[in-house]
Amino acid sequence: MSAARNHEPVVIAGGGIGGLAAALGLAIQGFHAVVLEQAREFAEIGAGIQLAPNAWHALDALSVDERVKEQAVFIERLLMMDAVSGETVIDVPVGERFRERFGNPYAVTHRADIHGALLDGCRARGDRIELRTDSRVTGFEIESNGVAVELADGTRVTGAALVGADGWSSAVRQAIVGDGEPPVSGHMCYRAVLDVADMPEDLRWAAASLWAGPSTHIVHYPLRGWKLFNLVATVVSETAGSGHNEEASPEEVLPLFAASCEKPLSILVPKTFRRWMLRFREPVDNWSRGPVTLLGDAAHLMLQYAAQGAAMALEDAVCLAVAIGDHDGDFAAAFQSYQRARLVRASRVQLSASLLGLLYHARGVARLVRNDMYAGWSGDGQYDAFDWVYQPPDYVRRLRSGGHL
Ligand SMILES: Cc1cc2nc3c(=O)[nH]c(=O)nc-3n(C[C@H](O)[C@H](O)[C@H](O)COP(=O)(O)OP(=O)(O)OC[C@H]3O[C@@H](n4cnc5c(N)ncnc54)[C@H](O)[C@@H]3O)c2cc1C
Repeated sequence: MSAARNHEPVVIAGGGIGGLAAALGLAIQGFHAVVLEQAREFAEIGAGIQLAPNAWHALDALSVDERVKEQAVFIERLLMMDAVSGETVIDVPVGERFRERFGNPYAVTHRADIHGALLDGCRARGDRIELRTDSRVTGFEIESNGVAVELADGTRVTGAALVGADGWSSAVRQAIVGDGEPPVSGHMCYRAVLDVADMPEDLRWAAASLWAGPSTHIVHYPLRGWKLFNLVATVVSETAGSGHNEEASPEEVLPLFAASCEKPLSILVPKTFRRWMLRFREPVDNWSRGPVTLLGDAAHLMLQYAAQGAAMALEDAVCLAVAIGDHDGDFAAAFQSYQRARLVRASRVQLSASLLGLLYHARGVARLVRNDMYAGWSGDGQYDAFDWVYQPPDYVRRLRSGGHL
């Protein structure tokens, strides 16, 4: 293996999907990185995730797509039903024709599987990537030749540059944007993973399925070779704001979905749910200061309604690696170029996710208008609408083709 292109490492705060993908992208480009993760071990929460074609393009560029595909379920449709009437509002086939159009499938998988594939990819590049746990980043100082990163235990890690991939409550972001904790959005969700035996038989669909109800929606899809089903039930609630990542009982959850018809209600069978407070940020026009930048949720925290947060973190990682390669270690210049390439696209997804919430949660006449708007929506028109997000951006194509186009 040839020597790394940088003497001092790129320090990455956070070992989630975004941070690990960034380390892998840098290693592919010949750079040395240190990942600092606050937790005792590198891990993801036990829930599902949808991966649209653009997420697969990025995984492909990072050479971990085959490994993630081993455990993924390749669904056949994206469905949206009206939770009140039960009627189908949107039905997008994502079979062969979709794959041909976008060059990759739409699939669903367990978060641990995608995170595990990235982690193994990083471990296999142990000569270029150092992984450290129990390392909570609390701040940094920009120095003449790089960055000194401060950890909670008082130690300092020096590097040529710092990437804040430290998620929704990013410490690195506070020194760059300084906008405090992201506000609670007024939306919260209840998450659960069901054994297939607990999933009503007539709802075991090969689809990412969404039941849109007044101020609520329910999402479900199969996981891990159809052994499990992921369930996320979301409400817009004035009481949202407390009890994040705590247990919630069916007595708390079921009344919130009382306006739904029998079918979606029949999925709310878990004996216990995990309550999740949803937060989001409005887009900002700067993520960088000198040799320090942000990536993933730290840069553009969004509601999950477009199922694109992780996809954006993966694309960020690929773009960052390409920019650093192009600028050959001039990190400040690379981060400006990365930000220029990513800001509008990621912000568009961030804003689109909030708008989708209005669509999903429509009530009264707005609900009827929504259903009418999508009646008969089919054929190429559906795929045209997804083109801007599902086709790979240039930097993803470049890393996929080994840096050449
Ligand atoms: C209910 C729900 C469903 C979703 N569904 C989808 C989906 O279907 N498809 C999709 O693409 N996206 C989805 N998302 C979004 C996706 O989960 C996130 O956008 C993605 O995980 C962001 O990755 P990240 O690496 O930027 O941040 P994170 O996953 O938050 O990782 C940040 C890491 O940094 C660590 N860390 C935090 N602070 C520090 C610190 N100070 N020092 C060191 N380490 C630190 C954390 O422990 C963590 O490991 C969903 C989100 C939610 C809430």
